[in-house]
Amino acid sequence: MYTEEEIKKAAKDIVGAEKIVALTGAGISTESGIPDFRGTDGLWTKYDPDDFTYSKFLQDPAKYWKMSLELGELLLSLEPKPNLAHLALARLEELGKLRCVITQNVDGLHQVAGNTEVIEFHGNLRRVVCIACGERFPHDLAMEKASNGELPPRCDKCKGILKPDAVLFEEPIPRYALDRSLEEARNCDLMIVVGTSAVVYPAAELPRIAKERDGYHASFFGLYQPRRVMDYKKGAKVIEINAEPTPLTGIVSDYLIEGKAGEILPKILKEVERLLGF
Ligand SMILES: [Zn+2]
Repeated sequence: MYTEEEIKKAAKDIVGAEKIVALTGAGISTESGIPDFRGTDGLWTKYDPDDFTYSKFLQDPAKYWKMSLELGELLLSLEPKPNLAHLALARLEELGKLRCVITQNVDGLHQVAGNTEVIEFHGNLRRVVCIACGERFPHDLAMEKASNGELPPRCDKCKGILKPDAVLFEEPIPRYALDRSLEEARNCDLMIVVGTSAVVYPAAELPRIAKERDGYHASFFGLYQPRRVMDYKKGAKVIEINAEPTPLTGIVSDYLIEGKAGEILPKILKEVERLLGF
């Protein structure tokens, strides 16, 4: 469990840093009632992840959208809202104390909370994209078309097939998201890791890249070429806010604040505001 000293220490680090980025994962959204897809009650106990691969989508987009209608009803019935952790990150951006959020989540809750700089590794389920022309539309529009029997739903501009703008299994992560997150990780002086064990590539690499800063001559396509030996002292500070220790703890992160992000982040924010004179 976290201590008040840790909260104060994190707030001081935030006030003292200039280029702060947050890396977030499923743990920040479970507190908004979004199920962890892989948990014991997760969606993958009801649906087969193999049906949600990119190649299956391309083979039979109509089937995908039929499943999506059922799933969509399930997800919409949860009406997820941003929680206090999302809101605290939005306020940090407002205060000039957060350059961007890099997220592995597809729920779009950081934007709903008010963050404007959000890099989404896995896309966003609130949008759909035309696979022919690349135009993006709100997800509701595609669901409306699908529920009116338009299967698969098609683009208003070019009649191309619409696909959720979330990255499906086996689908490559968008290059702009990789490039920009790498750039942010290399240039930040403080990274706040929230609700992720950061074991899955590419999120797993980012705290290490931040920590070592310019130690990597990096390309996100698998060719990491260390220019010199790791020197963690020269890199960014990495603060972890997680429910339990992770593979980063004690190795890459400077310290772990253990507990619920929805409790810890608002406390840190309050202390940051106090230090900044609000
Ligand atoms: Zn189109």
